[in-house]
Amino acid sequence: MSLDLDTRQRAMLQEMGVRVWEPEHPAGVMDEAAPSPLRGGEAVVTTARVAVSEQAEVAARPGSTQPPVPAATPSVGQALPADIAAMDWPALQQAVASCQACDLCQSRKNTVFGIGDTQARWLVVGEAPGENEDLQGEPFVGAAGQLLDNMLKALGLNRTGSGEQGVYIANVLKCRPPANRNPQPAEVRQCEPYLRRQVELLQPQIILALGRFAVQSLLQATVPDVATIPLGKLRGQVHSYQGVPVVVSYHPAYLLRTPQDKAKAWADLCLALDVMRRGAAAPAV
Ligand code: URA
Repeated sequence: MSLDLDTRQRAMLQEMGVRVWEPEHPAGVMDEAAPSPLRGGEAVVTTARVAVSEQAEVAARPGSTQPPVPAATPSVGQALPADIAAMDWPALQQAVASCQACDLCQSRKNTVFGIGDTQARWLVVGEAPGENEDLQGEPFVGAAGQLLDNMLKALGLNRTGSGEQGVYIANVLKCRPPANRNPQPAEVRQCEPYLRRQVELLQPQIILALGRFAVQSLLQATVPDVATIPLGKLRGQVHSYQGVPVVVSYHPAYLLRTPQDKAKAWADLCLALDVMRRGAAAPAV
Protein backbone atom coordinates (compact mmCIF):
# COMPACT_ATOMS: atom_id res chain seq x y z
CA MET A 1 0.00 0.00 0.00
CA SER A 2 1.29 3.45 -0.70
CA LEU A 3 0.04 6.57 0.98
CA ASP A 4 -0.61 9.81 -0.81
CA LEU A 5 0.07 12.36 1.87
CA ASP A 6 -1.38 15.81 1.51
CA THR A 7 0.13 18.96 3.01
CA ARG A 8 -1.84 18.68 6.23
CA GLN A 9 -0.86 15.06 6.78
CA ARG A 10 2.78 15.87 6.13
CA ALA A 11 2.56 18.64 8.70
CA MET A 12 1.07 16.21 11.19
CA LEU A 13 3.82 13.69 10.58
CA GLN A 14 6.36 16.44 11.13
CA GLU A 15 4.57 17.24 14.38
CA MET A 16 4.85 13.58 15.34
CA GLY A 17 8.57 13.77 14.69
CA VAL A 18 8.31 11.47 11.69
CA ARG A 19 10.23 12.62 8.61
CA VAL A 20 8.73 11.56 5.33
CA TRP A 21 11.31 10.08 3.06
CA GLU A 22 10.44 10.47 -0.59
CA PRO A 23 11.76 7.61 -2.72
CA GLU A 24 13.48 8.49 -5.96
CA HIS A 25 11.75 5.51 -7.52
CA PRO A 26 8.39 5.88 -9.20
CA ALA A 27 5.34 5.39 -7.01
CA GLY A 28 4.70 1.74 -6.22
CA VAL A 29 8.30 0.57 -6.50
CA MET A 30 8.78 0.85 -2.75
CA ASP A 31 5.49 -0.76 -1.77
CA GLU A 32 7.05 -3.83 -0.24
CA ALA A 33 10.03 -2.02 1.22
CA ALA A 34 11.79 -3.09 4.37
CA PRO A 35 11.25 -1.33 7.70
CA SER A 36 11.87 2.36 7.51
CA PRO A 37 15.39 3.56 8.29
CA LEU A 38 16.24 5.54 11.37
CA ARG A 39 18.70 8.35 10.94
CA GLY A 40 20.49 9.91 13.84
CA GLY A 41 17.84 8.79 16.28
CA GLU A 42 15.20 10.61 14.29
CA ALA A 43 12.16 8.75 13.10
CA VAL A 44 12.03 8.51 9.33
CA VAL A 45 9.24 6.85 7.45
CA THR A 46 8.75 6.10 3.83
CA THR A 47 5.45 6.65 2.16
CA ALA A 48 5.47 2.95 1.44
CA ARG A 49 4.05 0.09 3.44
CA VAL A 50 6.47 -0.99 6.13
CA ALA A 51 7.03 -4.55 7.24
CA VAL A 52 7.18 -4.89 10.99
CA SER A 53 8.72 -7.20 13.53
CA GLU A 54 10.27 -5.24 16.29
CA GLN A 55 11.55 -5.08 19.79
CA ALA A 56 9.35 -4.94 22.85
CA GLU A 57 7.75 -1.93 24.33
CA VAL A 58 9.30 -2.50 27.71
CA ALA A 59 8.49 0.62 29.63
CA ALA A 60 5.75 0.76 32.21
CA ARG A 61 3.51 3.79 32.70
CA PRO A 62 5.41 7.03 33.20
CA GLY A 63 6.10 7.63 36.85
CA SER A 64 5.18 4.11 37.80
CA THR A 65 7.34 2.29 40.30
CA GLN A 66 5.40 -0.92 39.98
CA PRO A 67 6.78 -4.00 38.24
CA PRO A 68 4.80 -5.32 35.29
CA VAL A 69 1.74 -7.27 36.28
CA PRO A 70 0.28 -10.22 34.41
CA ALA A 71 -2.92 -9.81 32.48
CA ALA A 72 -6.22 -10.30 34.19
CA THR A 73 -7.87 -13.67 34.19
CA PRO A 74 -9.70 -13.90 30.88
CA SER A 75 -13.34 -12.98 31.07
CA VAL A 76 -13.73 -12.19 27.40
CA GLY A 77 -15.19 -15.57 26.53
CA GLN A 78 -17.85 -15.19 29.18
CA ALA A 79 -21.18 -13.55 28.59
CA LEU A 80 -21.47 -9.92 29.54
CA PRO A 81 -23.43 -9.33 32.74
CA ALA A 82 -27.03 -9.11 31.55
CA ASP A 83 -27.50 -5.56 32.75
CA ILE A 84 -24.45 -4.28 30.90
CA ALA A 85 -25.27 -6.29 27.78
CA ALA A 86 -28.58 -4.44 27.52
CA MET A 87 -27.19 -0.94 27.96
CA ASP A 88 -27.17 1.76 25.31
CA TRP A 89 -24.51 4.50 25.28
CA PRO A 90 -26.11 6.80 27.87
CA ALA A 91 -26.91 3.91 30.23
CA LEU A 92 -23.40 2.54 29.90
CA GLN A 93 -21.85 5.93 30.56
CA GLN A 94 -24.06 6.33 33.60
CA ALA A 95 -23.09 2.88 34.85
CA VAL A 96 -19.41 3.76 34.55
CA ALA A 97 -19.95 7.09 36.28
CA SER A 98 -21.47 5.39 39.29
CA CYS A 99 -19.28 2.27 39.25
CA GLN A 100 -17.89 1.10 42.59
CA ALA A 101 -16.68 -2.31 41.46
CA CYS A 102 -13.10 -1.72 42.58
CA ASP A 103 -11.17 0.55 44.91
CA LEU A 104 -10.27 3.03 42.17
CA CYS A 105 -13.65 4.66 42.72
CA GLN A 106 -12.38 5.96 46.04
CA SER A 107 -9.50 7.97 44.61
CA ARG A 108 -10.90 9.06 41.24
CA LYS A 109 -12.06 12.61 40.62
CA ASN A 110 -13.92 11.66 37.46
CA THR A 111 -14.57 8.53 35.53
CA VAL A 112 -13.17 8.63 31.99
CA PHE A 113 -15.70 6.87 29.80
CA GLY A 114 -14.42 7.67 26.32
CA ILE A 115 -14.68 10.34 23.67
CA GLY A 116 -15.49 10.58 20.01
CA ASP A 117 -17.99 9.57 17.41
CA THR A 118 -20.15 6.66 18.58
CA GLN A 119 -20.54 5.70 14.92
CA ALA A 120 -16.83 5.79 14.19
CA ARG A 121 -15.13 3.05 12.21
CA TRP A 122 -11.98 3.45 14.28
CA LEU A 123 -11.61 2.60 17.95
CA VAL A 124 -8.42 3.53 19.79
CA VAL A 125 -7.87 1.77 23.10
CA GLY A 126 -5.41 3.07 25.67
CA GLU A 127 -4.57 1.98 29.16
CA ALA A 128 -6.02 4.13 31.93
CA PRO A 129 -6.59 7.77 32.77
CA GLY A 130 -3.69 9.78 34.14
CA GLU A 131 -3.90 12.88 36.26
CA ASN A 132 -5.11 15.23 33.53
CA GLU A 133 -7.66 12.75 32.27
CA ASP A 134 -8.93 12.18 35.80
CA LEU A 135 -9.37 15.93 36.26
CA GLN A 136 -11.07 16.51 32.91
CA GLY A 137 -12.97 13.25 32.51
CA GLU A 138 -11.64 12.78 28.98
CA PRO A 139 -9.08 10.29 27.68
CA PHE A 140 -5.68 11.32 26.36
CA VAL A 141 -5.71 15.03 27.15
CA GLY A 142 -2.08 15.33 28.30
CA ALA A 143 1.14 15.31 26.31
CA ALA A 144 0.56 11.73 25.17
CA GLY A 145 -2.89 12.80 24.02
CA GLN A 146 -1.42 15.58 21.87
CA LEU A 147 0.83 13.07 20.18
CA LEU A 148 -2.11 10.70 19.71
CA ASP A 149 -4.17 13.50 18.17
CA ASN A 150 -1.34 14.26 15.75
CA MET A 151 -1.00 10.60 14.84
CA LEU A 152 -4.73 10.44 14.19
CA LYS A 153 -4.72 13.67 12.21
CA ALA A 154 -2.07 12.21 9.94
CA LEU A 155 -4.69 9.58 9.10
CA GLY A 156 -7.38 12.21 8.60
CA LEU A 157 -9.02 11.32 11.92
CA ASN A 158 -10.12 13.67 14.65
CA ARG A 159 -11.59 13.01 18.09
CA THR A 160 -14.28 15.59 17.39
CA GLY A 161 -14.82 14.41 13.83
CA SER A 162 -17.53 12.24 12.37
CA GLY A 163 -18.01 10.22 9.21
CA GLU A 164 -14.67 9.61 7.50
CA GLN A 165 -12.94 11.63 10.20
CA GLY A 166 -14.58 9.90 13.12
CA VAL A 167 -12.70 8.01 15.81
CA TYR A 168 -13.67 6.80 19.26
CA ILE A 169 -11.07 6.75 22.05
CA ALA A 170 -11.43 4.67 25.19
CA ASN A 171 -9.27 3.11 27.87
CA VAL A 172 -9.12 -0.33 29.44
CA LEU A 173 -9.65 1.26 32.86
CA LYS A 174 -12.21 4.01 33.32
CA CYS A 175 -10.67 5.30 36.55
CA ARG A 176 -7.17 6.56 37.29
CA PRO A 177 -4.87 4.20 39.20
CA PRO A 178 -3.32 6.18 42.07
CA ALA A 179 0.06 7.71 41.25
CA ASN A 180 -0.25 6.29 37.73
CA ARG A 181 0.62 2.82 38.88
CA ASN A 182 -0.03 -0.06 36.53
CA PRO A 183 -3.57 -1.41 36.34
CA GLN A 184 -4.03 -4.45 38.54
CA PRO A 185 -5.51 -7.68 37.15
CA ALA A 186 -8.63 -7.41 39.29
CA GLU A 187 -9.21 -3.83 38.12
CA VAL A 188 -8.86 -4.85 34.48
CA ARG A 189 -11.23 -7.75 35.08
CA GLN A 190 -13.87 -5.55 36.73
CA CYS A 191 -13.67 -2.89 34.03
CA GLU A 192 -13.48 -5.21 31.00
CA PRO A 193 -17.27 -5.52 30.51
CA TYR A 194 -17.54 -1.76 29.97
CA LEU A 195 -14.99 -1.76 27.16
CA ARG A 196 -16.56 -4.87 25.69
CA ARG A 197 -19.99 -3.22 25.62
CA GLN A 198 -18.43 -0.12 24.06
CA VAL A 199 -17.07 -2.32 21.28
CA GLU A 200 -20.46 -3.99 20.84
CA LEU A 201 -22.23 -0.65 20.60
CA LEU A 202 -19.63 0.97 18.36
CA GLN A 203 -19.06 -1.99 16.06
CA PRO A 204 -15.81 -0.50 14.80
CA GLN A 205 -14.11 -1.75 11.68
CA ILE A 206 -10.67 -1.50 13.25
CA ILE A 207 -9.28 -1.34 16.78
CA LEU A 208 -5.91 0.22 17.46
CA ALA A 209 -4.56 -1.18 20.73
CA LEU A 210 -1.98 1.16 22.25
CA GLY A 211 0.43 -0.21 24.81
CA ARG A 212 0.72 -3.54 26.55
CA PHE A 213 -2.26 -3.20 28.87
CA ALA A 214 -4.63 -2.51 26.02
CA VAL A 215 -3.03 -5.32 24.06
CA GLN A 216 -3.20 -7.79 26.93
CA SER A 217 -6.79 -6.92 27.72
CA LEU A 218 -7.99 -7.17 24.12
CA LEU A 219 -5.98 -10.20 23.03
CA GLN A 220 -6.06 -12.36 26.14
CA ALA A 221 -8.77 -14.59 24.67
CA THR A 222 -7.12 -15.06 21.30
CA VAL A 223 -3.35 -14.96 21.87
CA PRO A 224 -2.11 -17.65 24.29
CA ASP A 225 0.09 -16.26 27.06
CA VAL A 226 -0.19 -12.80 25.56
CA ALA A 227 1.19 -11.23 28.75
CA THR A 228 4.51 -12.96 28.16
CA ILE A 229 4.89 -11.77 24.56
CA PRO A 230 6.77 -8.52 23.97
CA LEU A 231 4.54 -5.92 22.36
CA GLY A 232 6.97 -5.59 19.48
CA LYS A 233 6.33 -9.19 18.51
CA LEU A 234 2.58 -8.61 18.33
CA ARG A 235 2.95 -5.71 15.92
CA GLY A 236 2.65 -6.13 12.18
CA GLN A 237 -0.15 -8.69 12.40
CA VAL A 238 -3.90 -8.34 12.36
CA HIS A 239 -5.38 -9.77 15.55
CA SER A 240 -9.01 -10.03 16.54
CA TYR A 241 -11.25 -8.93 19.40
CA GLN A 242 -14.90 -9.98 19.33
CA GLY A 243 -14.52 -10.42 15.58
CA VAL A 244 -13.08 -6.93 15.06
CA PRO A 245 -9.58 -6.62 13.54
CA VAL A 246 -7.01 -5.35 16.02
CA VAL A 247 -3.69 -3.70 15.21
CA VAL A 248 -1.14 -3.35 18.00
CA SER A 249 1.08 -0.34 18.49
CA TYR A 250 3.12 1.51 21.05
CA HIS A 251 1.54 3.72 23.67
CA PRO A 252 2.00 7.44 22.90
CA ALA A 253 3.61 7.96 26.33
CA TYR A 254 6.23 5.39 25.38
CA LEU A 255 6.75 7.17 22.05
CA LEU A 256 7.34 10.44 23.86
CA ARG A 257 10.16 8.75 25.75
CA THR A 258 11.36 6.78 22.74
CA PRO A 259 10.89 9.03 19.71
CA GLN A 260 13.03 6.81 17.53
CA ASP A 261 10.12 4.32 17.55
CA LYS A 262 7.66 6.82 16.08
CA ALA A 263 8.38 5.49 12.60
CA LYS A 264 7.28 2.05 13.77
CA ALA A 265 4.10 3.55 15.18
CA TRP A 266 3.48 5.19 11.82
CA ALA A 267 3.95 1.81 10.17
CA ASP A 268 1.30 0.42 12.55
CA LEU A 269 -1.10 3.19 11.61
CA CYS A 270 -0.48 2.44 7.94
CA LEU A 271 -1.26 -1.23 8.58
CA ALA A 272 -4.49 -0.29 10.36
CA LEU A 273 -5.44 2.01 7.50
CA ASP A 274 -4.70 -0.77 5.05
CA VAL A 275 -6.93 -3.17 6.99
CA MET A 276 -9.66 -0.54 7.01
CA ARG A 277 -9.40 0.03 3.30
CA ARG A 278 -9.43 -3.63 2.48
CA GLY A 279 -12.36 -4.29 4.73
CA ALA A 280 -10.33 -6.79 6.75
CA ALA A 281 -12.13 -9.80 5.36
CA ALA A 282 -10.51 -12.44 7.53
CA PRO A 283 -8.46 -11.23 10.46
CA ALA A 284 -5.78 -13.67 11.52
CA VAL A 285 -5.72 -14.66 15.17
N1 URA B 1 -2.74 7.12 28.84
C1 URA B 1 -3.75 6.28 28.52
O1 URA B 1 -3.53 5.10 28.25
N2 URA B 1 -4.97 6.76 28.49
C2 URA B 1 -5.25 8.03 28.75
O2 URA B 1 -6.41 8.40 28.68
C3 URA B 1 -4.19 8.89 29.07
C4 URA B 1 -2.94 8.40 29.12
